[in-house]
Amino acid sequence: MSMREETPDNKEKRPVMETVTEEKVKKERKPMPPQSLTWQTLRVILAGAAILATLFTIWTPASLFSSSLQERLAEALAQSSAADQTQMAAGLLPEGFPVDKIGIVVGHRGNDSGAVCASGLTELEVNSTIASFVQKKLTDLGYEVELLDEFDPRLVGYQAVLLLSIHGDSCEYYSDSATGFKIAAALSETKADNATRLVACMADRYQIITGLQYNYHTVTVDMTSYHAFTEIDPLTTAAIIETGFLNLDQEILTKKPELIADGIVAGIQCYLNNEGVSSTPTPTSEP
Ligand SMILES: [Zn+2]
Repeated sequence: MSMREETPDNKEKRPVMETVTEEKVKKERKPMPPQSLTWQTLRVILAGAAILATLFTIWTPASLFSSSLQERLAEALAQSSAADQTQMAAGLLPEGFPVDKIGIVVGHRGNDSGAVCASGLTELEVNSTIASFVQKKLTDLGYEVELLDEFDPRLVGYQAVLLLSIHGDSCEYYSDSATGFKIAAALSETKADNATRLVACMADRYQIITGLQYNYHTVTVDMTSYHAFTEIDPLTTAAIIETGFLNLDQEILTKKPELIADGIVAGIQCYLNNEGVSSTPTPTSEP
């Protein structure tokens, strides 16, 4: 007897499981107005219609003679589901999406040391310590947290409710204003709303907790076009933070890494719990 076969017992349990999943998803998302349910239903119907239309289109006499009809069929279905996912990004995440999973990229790990100070201190050391504290704190809060290398193969198609890459800034002295943190989110039409809110949350909480200033006017193209942003699953919201300058902010970065981690975790919680933020300047990137 297959495990999937329905017994009266399974039938009774199923609605309870669905409710839990729905609640979990809602917890991370904005509250939906009642008409959204109708809209969701409509989307499903439209997606179904789109699949039928696609099937009808490829069902031409010519394709009947094609030996790769099955391949084309599979391709058409795959395209429809990708379109579906794009629609879902604006609302609820699809069932089965790991809404309790958070990925943390330890900046430069597995690749290079990042910024290096005359004393021998490296950005990689600083990033690693902070990332480990972030992992521990988020795990304590009930999330499944993975630490990833800079060019981790797992980043391709990576699915998580959030991916955050932790970096630090140069150890060279430029000027007295080369201090503070930067944050940038993945620029994407489907996730624009999430990305904006994530940046606002991270900037607000990190600034309050660490006392470091938000260097939003120096956010670079390197950050907004960060390599991992294009590798991950389109439904995974992602951001990169430069926690501070290894030169002028070295003391707090090396002596109070747990405080730095507290700032990051509070920002993540703010985003995931949809908490309010005081007005924060919007980062703009110089071309
Ligand atoms: Zn770096």
